[in-house]
Amino acid sequence: MGKNSIAKLTFRGGVHPDDGKALSKDKPIKTIIPKGDMVYPLSQHIGAPAVPIVKKGDRVLTGQRIADAGGFVSAPIYSTVSGVVKTIEPRRVVTGDMVNSIIIENDEKFEEVEYTPHDVQKLSKQEIIEFIKDAGVVGMGGAGFPTHVKLSPKEPEKIDYVIANCAECEPYLTSDYRRMLEEPQKLIDGLKIILRLFDNAQGILAVEDNKKDCIELLEKLTKNESKITVKALKTKYPQGAERQLIYASTGRAINSSMLPADAGCVVDNVDTIVAIYHAVAEGKPLMNRIVTVTGDAIKDPRNFYVRIGMNYKDLIEEAGGFVSEPQKVISGGPMMGFALFDLNVPTTKTASALLCLTKDEVSMMEPSACINCGRCSDVCPGRVVPKQLSIYADHNDMDAFVEHNGMECCECGCCSFICPAKRHLTQSIKSMRKTVLANRKK
Ligand code: SF4
Ligand code: SF4
Repeated sequence: MGKNSIAKLTFRGGVHPDDGKALSKDKPIKTIIPKGDMVYPLSQHIGAPAVPIVKKGDRVLTGQRIADAGGFVSAPIYSTVSGVVKTIEPRRVVTGDMVNSIIIENDEKFEEVEYTPHDVQKLSKQEIIEFIKDAGVVGMGGAGFPTHVKLSPKEPEKIDYVIANCAECEPYLTSDYRRMLEEPQKLIDGLKIILRLFDNAQGILAVEDNKKDCIELLEKLTKNESKITVKALKTKYPQGAERQLIYASTGRAINSSMLPADAGCVVDNVDTIVAIYHAVAEGKPLMNRIVTVTGDAIKDPRNFYVRIGMNYKDLIEEAGGFVSEPQKVISGGPMMGFALFDLNVPTTKTASALLCLTKDEVSMMEPSACINCGRCSDVCPGRVVPKQLSIYADHNDMDAFVEHNGMECCECGCCSFICPAKRHLTQSIKSMRKTVLANRKK
């Protein structure tokens, strides 16, 4: 077998939901030209909110910085259109929260600042980190953790693996798949930039084995890259969750109190790595992302290149609108996304998908009594007993919840998915985890 040999790499637990990917996977990515007002929430990352550096009435260009990072764990924000700052005020975001936001009236001229490309080979490690930080790159797989922080572990010489998370295990999502097929070289070059930061690391492109065309293409393009290997992972949800991905790719296990760097790993997802490429090689800030607009309620499901700040309603319009009234609209995938009650929210750096379904089978079924079938424990990749944890959570018994390893839950949703009694296991466990984390910060 060659260096990119295909093996069945996996983890314990997990489920096989209907993947729904056929709806959008075969159509090329389409670019949307935004119209109307753009909304930039100042908190679209983990950490301190960004701080506006523009005021009402200012004219801005595409690619101009409009908010500085509010601390080390924070990220700046850039305008993705040219126009005039209309106001700065709280606006609703996908989580339902009101977040202070910069509103820009788009003049639809798209006048742009000039970018300075760099010769990557001549850059120092510090310069690479600075360009990533200045560009406002954050984890675009959903976490929104500032990437420059992740790429600055205490002991960089102890990093053995940089893993490109190309699993895309969440049902319905196909943006990484299209990116790998349409812009694979940007992904590879982005991974090579990250490898410049870690002298002892090997790069792994970790792809689920339901994307054979991507595996073949990436293997072909990396055959002469001695530091990069393509690894085919067994198709199973949540293969792309950080802990499961690290275990499947390297055999190293981490728990909730460890960081990937503690196991000698750095993990970034496809869009983030491409954003790193744009930031460092092309000198461009984070302004775009790919969003999958899909579900059986959508007329023309597909992937779009979206400028951050665009309204979700415009994405639906570009996808041909609704064929019938959706029962459920989710920002993200069906397992880990947020149910939306209002489509009037902006696209942010972490918005991976907009899923519109005509049926909401799970919520239409009332939960019934637990029949002690044990299936929730069988599928749990966190190796906990979801049934028991949800009881502790519902009784607000924090001590028992922590004692029985409730914090090892990665909120993947497998237990709720599999439960024949349709019990709201993930929901209860998730809210208890939040309470425990909030208490630890006090
Ligand atoms: S308890 Fe947590 S980790 Fe285990 S299946 Fe449920 S959501 Fe996933
Ligand atoms: S899967 Fe549902 S019914 Fe079965 S043990 Fe777990 S909570 Fe009870």
